[in-house]
Amino acid sequence: MEDLSFRDRLYTIGEGGRRKWVFASLPRGIFTFRRHLVAIFLLAFFLVLPHLEYRGEPLLLLNVLQRKFILFGLVIWPQDTYMLGVGMLAFVVGIILFTVVYGRIWCGWACPQTIFMEIVFRRIETWIDGSPVKQKELRERPMDGDKFLRRTLKFLVFFTIIFYTVNNFSVFFIGKKYLFEAYRSGFSGHPYLLAFLIVFTVVGVFIYWWFREQTCSVICPYGRLQGVLLDNDSLVVAYDYRRGEPRGTALPVEKRKQPSLGDCIDCKSCVRVCPTGIDIRNGTQLECVNCTACIDACDAVMDKVKLPRGLIRITSERSIREGIPHRLNWRAYAYSIVLLMLAGFFFYLLFSRAPVEATVLRTPGTIFQPYDSGHISNLYNLRIVNKSRKDQVIRLQELSDVGIIKLAGGVDTVVVKKEASLETLFFYIVPKNEADFASRKVIFRILANGQPVQDYSTTFVGIRQNVGQ
Ligand code: SF4
Ligand code: SF4
Repeated sequence: MEDLSFRDRLYTIGEGGRRKWVFASLPRGIFTFRRHLVAIFLLAFFLVLPHLEYRGEPLLLLNVLQRKFILFGLVIWPQDTYMLGVGMLAFVVGIILFTVVYGRIWCGWACPQTIFMEIVFRRIETWIDGSPVKQKELRERPMDGDKFLRRTLKFLVFFTIIFYTVNNFSVFFIGKKYLFEAYRSGFSGHPYLLAFLIVFTVVGVFIYWWFREQTCSVICPYGRLQGVLLDNDSLVVAYDYRRGEPRGTALPVEKRKQPSLGDCIDCKSCVRVCPTGIDIRNGTQLECVNCTACIDACDAVMDKVKLPRGLIRITSERSIREGIPHRLNWRAYAYSIVLLMLAGFFFYLLFSRAPVEATVLRTPGTIFQPYDSGHISNLYNLRIVNKSRKDQVIRLQELSDVGIIKLAGGVDTVVVKKEASLETLFFYIVPKNEADFASRKVIFRILANGQPVQDYSTTFVGIRQNVGQ
């Protein structure tokens, strides 16, 4: 009977719950090359993006505490957070779709955890400690001068990279001016930022120095979701057991061509490069992050033994089981349609939003105010948010045009600075003979720099309010 005991626990958890350390070799091959290109692009994006500015403002800012968000130059106000909700929804559906169709390619190719662990820190570790065999020997031997020096050097390099990365990460949330100002002032007045930098640096050192691949296997919620999102048609890194089994040994190629032996020579190269320590020949497993390192390792072996590449490849379980080309299933099409609709709606909201948004409310606790001139007025609160990048001259009109509007201070217009908000009061004054009612709807039109931007409906209290009082 097939031995499935490997599915009972993580590879990195040995007998008695002890941690099994993974000493992975660095892979080489076309997938690794492409993966490095993607990683360099994403790292450059991560390092440069928070420092870019557009018209004096960060290009991207996610300041949660001050509720200020800038997405590629577009300022998102607290009033617009429903757009962020739609954006988040589109993002989640996008991730689901991506996973259903492409499996865990995100984990192996784009996730910051994997990029830093496999492309940055494992490489540095190999430079400092040597090959996986030497790393194992170094780990198991008692502390001596050489080990102390290597450990110290490795720690300093890890710490420096992590500390710089955490600082760079903070810029996404607070902006570089705030970070530089905090360093200039020695963090007096910025205790929360200091706490953020210390906590995240400690967490980063813990993860990359010790916890490593367990982050993906044990903590990451996206990793846990795979079980429900993947199906037999999802693309995964898979071993072609129909072609590979029964496994041979490292025999000359002519012997492996015997019909009784499959193409796998049981060299375990695929296991040696796996950053999570698993054997992909056991089938899709929780720990596999689809990094494709085992594909490169196996292709190199296939080249050496003069057999076709692709014994391990990106394909679906159904494709391997039935020996047919991979096809998209109906779930992928359904999610794609939903994703397109959500993304379209998000961009519609983003680009159709008014540059100026106003709220007009009758001042609470007031009725009308009579004048000797035979007029009455109602008092209103006006709040204007200027989301545009230029100052706006605001003027109000009432659509029935029976009265006049006087802004606080007796002025006809107010100026709202770019990307700022303003609150003020105004009177709407009408002749008494036009106000012979208890309450009526009035519509105020808000004009910004002469252009109508919004009509706001509210109520006007007339003179009948006091009849009988
Ligand atoms: S099994 Fe292959 S693809 Fe999966 S994590 Fe290991 S090396 Fe990467
Ligand atoms: S690298 Fe290829 S040939 Fe070697 S054990 Fe893995 S699957 Fe078999």
